[in-house]
Amino acid sequence: MRKIQMVDLKSQYDKIAATVNASIQEVLDTTTYINGPQVHAFQKNLEEYLGVKHVIPCANGTDALQIAMMGLGLKPGDEVITADFTFAATVEVIALLQLTPVLVDVDLVNMNISIEAIKKAITPKTKAIVPVHLFGRAANMEAIMQIANEHNLYVIEDNAQAIGANCKFSDGTKKKAGTIGHVSSTSFFPSKNLGCYGDGGAIFTNDDELAHTIRGIVNHGMYVRYHHDVVGVNSRLDSIQAAVLNAKLPFLDQYGAARQDAARKYSAAFEGHPNIVAPTICDICDCHVFHQYTLRIINGDRDGLMQHLLDKGIPCAIYYPIPLHSQKAYLDPRYKEEDFPITNQLVKEVISLPMHTELDDEQIAYITNTVKEFFK
Ligand SMILES: *Cc1c(COP(=O)(O)O)cnc(C)c1O
Repeated sequence: MRKIQMVDLKSQYDKIAATVNASIQEVLDTTTYINGPQVHAFQKNLEEYLGVKHVIPCANGTDALQIAMMGLGLKPGDEVITADFTFAATVEVIALLQLTPVLVDVDLVNMNISIEAIKKAITPKTKAIVPVHLFGRAANMEAIMQIANEHNLYVIEDNAQAIGANCKFSDGTKKKAGTIGHVSSTSFFPSKNLGCYGDGGAIFTNDDELAHTIRGIVNHGMYVRYHHDVVGVNSRLDSIQAAVLNAKLPFLDQYGAARQDAARKYSAAFEGHPNIVAPTICDICDCHVFHQYTLRIINGDRDGLMQHLLDKGIPCAIYYPIPLHSQKAYLDPRYKEEDFPITNQLVKEVISLPMHTELDDEQIAYITNTVKEFFK
């Protein structure tokens, strides 16, 4: 059996090496390292893939979120509602901009921000909602946009984990995650579903004026060379990373299908198990692209299972072990433990199994058998 890895970037690279290498070589031959034609081409390619008017490439997914919020002109003291169960980058940029993060509980089934919790958290100071499409599964954007419209709030989608996923609406239409809110961010960190070979990120929006504002912000607040109209940042996707992404983007749907295929095999093996709640896979809508494949272990021995898997050579991880509302940097006297029953439960129950585009049946069978063996 091939060695099992949490993420297998080498096997993925080996299959597309000639294309990627040629794409990188072009940058080396032309020395257009910054803002080269590859960056512009990637922007166009991704706009077309997503069906969004504007893609603004930047240096990483954390910058993308921060720049999205700067572009909207949010002011210190504005309240921004986001999920308690996510990677810290989401809340970090809210705090960095001196906005007030308002963490709320999530849903037990899809692990995304709870619609009821959003409604309860809205105050006259609320200015924005930041749903995170966690683990690759689209949040309920229809309900979130409805709340936002009723209360005149901005929606910033953190799409770092779900590029390529679809959001479906009750009228039957589908749109790509990251193209529904007022503005969205994504990350091209190597292990993300569309990963480059270093750091990278992008901002998406359908709003022409906001896109113009953001293009200036990523470039030191310049709209005319050496005229600085607003305080900006320096955040660029370099041409070599854009070259990698241009080579990989045509494979994104195939990669998503490979992840879904592995997830389907995992979930079939765990179906009906008394101690395991496996993610469901919707066959028709592609609303989950499995950035992570995350189980809930409901017999109270998640940590025992983790040790068992590690002992048997199976990498696994806890995403995320501590709710954000309990993190030292984000403590707030307004938070009460009883407001976060689901996050407090999830941090004790979740475990993520190896998930990437190169898992084979032998590996999946070994992993699922080893998980089940633990409960015998
Ligand atoms: C990875 C990630 C980010 C940050 O992306 P970087 O490119 O690492 O800065 C932000 N939000 C979520 C949910 C992520 O998973």
